[in-house]
Amino acid sequence: MNLINTLVMIKELIVLGSGGSRMVTIKQERRTGGLAFIIDDGIFVLDPGPGSITYFNQLGLNPFLVKGILISHRHPDHYTDAEIYIEAATRGANVKRGLLIGAKSVLEHVNGLGHPAISIYHKCLPEIVKSMSPGDSVIYNRIKITALKSIHTDPYTIGLRLDDEKHSISYFPDTEFDEEIIKGAENTDLLILSVLRPGNQKFPYHLCIDDAIKMVKLISPKKVLITHFGTRMLRAPPEKEAERMAKITGINTIAATDGIRLPIAEAFKPLDLWTKN
Ligand SMILES: [Zn+2]
Ligand SMILES: [Zn+2]
Repeated sequence: MNLINTLVMIKELIVLGSGGSRMVTIKQERRTGGLAFIIDDGIFVLDPGPGSITYFNQLGLNPFLVKGILISHRHPDHYTDAEIYIEAATRGANVKRGLLIGAKSVLEHVNGLGHPAISIYHKCLPEIVKSMSPGDSVIYNRIKITALKSIHTDPYTIGLRLDDEKHSISYFPDTEFDEEIIKGAENTDLLILSVLRPGNQKFPYHLCIDDAIKMVKLISPKKVLITHFGTRMLRAPPEKEAERMAKITGINTIAATDGIRLPIAEAFKPLDLWTKN
């Protein structure tokens, strides 16, 4: 493929797991595999928690196409399967290939958190390894990846913004709401929010739906995907909460389900393939 004359685009988003939090992860009430982005000639995996590689294979995806592994913070529901993906990206640890991005606590020795989540052995395998703090960015295969601020119990937690040559996607992992975290996520097409709890049920260092509504109003994205649900959210259920969000914000909002595949390139055309509510 001649990429010089072709726009590089993130084509599809696949939810490898819409569950989050300790309890949902322990009981696997929802899968906890994170997200996969299908790009022209490869796949990026974001926050691959427990079971991610299993679900990835079950969905018929080819793990050897993985070329990017992105990790927002050092909690097991976000990183446990990352080393397996690194081995896949590097063809069984045989070829220096791919991109590994992580918060400082994921890739470095940091005060109070001890060893990095990823082993030194695995850190040496990919072609490019970047430990990121808010504001840092890297361009890989013509996709720009920028670290956003998040406020979480892992103080090094980062959100991530992906800009291909046509669209932008901003992802916030577990974070408390604060206007300062919005910086860098402006003018995003798709906003992905990890929303632990429904309504106004606040839990420190996480978003509830009321917080998510505030974020959507401030960022004004074209589409919103909520995911990474805790137990209370699953009881709400998430679809009802997404519908309520959409009514209040006027912005198309989808609640993630395990295995759902959402087109990105087509999502912003007049024919709205995302319309679910
Ligand atoms: Zn989490
Ligand atoms: Zn967390």
